[in-house]
Amino acid sequence: MYDVFSLLTITFPLYNFITVLRSNYPYSDYFFHICKPLSLRDHISFKKRHADKSSLRVCDKIFIWYFRKLTLSMINEVIHMLSADEAIKRLKEGNRQYVSTDTFHADISSTLLEHFAKNGQEPYAIVISCSDSRVIPERIFHTAIGDLFTIRVAGNVIDDHQLGSIEYAAGHLGTKLIVVLGHTQCGAVTAAIQHNPSGYIKFITDEIKRAIGDEQDDYKAAVLNVHQSVEMIESSLEIQKDEEDGLRVVGAIYHIENGTVDFEI
Ligand SMILES: [Zn+2]
Repeated sequence: MYDVFSLLTITFPLYNFITVLRSNYPYSDYFFHICKPLSLRDHISFKKRHADKSSLRVCDKIFIWYFRKLTLSMINEVIHMLSADEAIKRLKEGNRQYVSTDTFHADISSTLLEHFAKNGQEPYAIVISCSDSRVIPERIFHTAIGDLFTIRVAGNVIDDHQLGSIEYAAGHLGTKLIVVLGHTQCGAVTAAIQHNPSGYIKFITDEIKRAIGDEQDDYKAAVLNVHQSVEMIESSLEIQKDEEDGLRVVGAIYHIENGTVDFEI
C-alpha cells in the first residue's frame, strides 16, 4: 500500500551508505541486516551468528539503537510524504476504477486490520463530503482502510468541529491533501435555495445561504457552497502553516448520476 518508488528512493541510498559502513566498522554488518528486512534468510542467518549480543561492545549497541531509530524515522517521513498532487492523481485513478466497475471489493482481512492497529493510520487525503447516502467517499475513490480521513456532514459545511478534525489530520497525521466534495442533487443545497427550515437544520442551510446568495441553479449553488468551505478551511491559521509545507485544499463535485468526480470547478 506504500508508495514503492518512495521506499526505493530511501532504500538505495541506505544500501550504499551501509555498504561503506561495512568496510569501515566491524559491527556494521548488523546494520546491514537491520536495513534489509526483505531478506528473511539473511536475517535468520545473522541472528544465529549473533545470538549472543554480549559479544557486542557498548558503543556498538548504542550505534545499533541509534541507526535503527534513524532508519525507522526516515521511512516514516517517506510514507507521510505523499504529495498533494500525487494524492489527487490517486483519487482520480480510484474514481476511474469506481466508474468502470459494477462491484466493490475491499480488503478487510485480519492482516490488514492488525497492520493498522499496530502501525496507526497514514491517510493520504482528508475528504469532507455530504452525509447523503449516495455519496460514499471510500467507494467513490475506490479506497481501502487507512486511505482516507473522512468527515461527513449534510451540505459539506464547515464549522469549528470539522475544522478541528481537519487540523488534526493535517497537522498530526501529515496528510497533504484536503478535498471538499460537494455533489449534484444535494438536498441541503436545494433546501437552502427553496426553503427556510426550522430546528437545527437551519444552522446548515443558513451556512449554505451565505455561500450561494441568490443563486437558484442547484449545480452552481453546490459549487459555490464547496468554494465557501474551501475558503473557510484555508482561513485556519494552522492550515495556512501546513500549506507552507505542501498542503493543498481543493474543491470537487461528485455527480451522483454517473459516479464521476469533477476536480475542475
Ligand atoms: Zn448533499
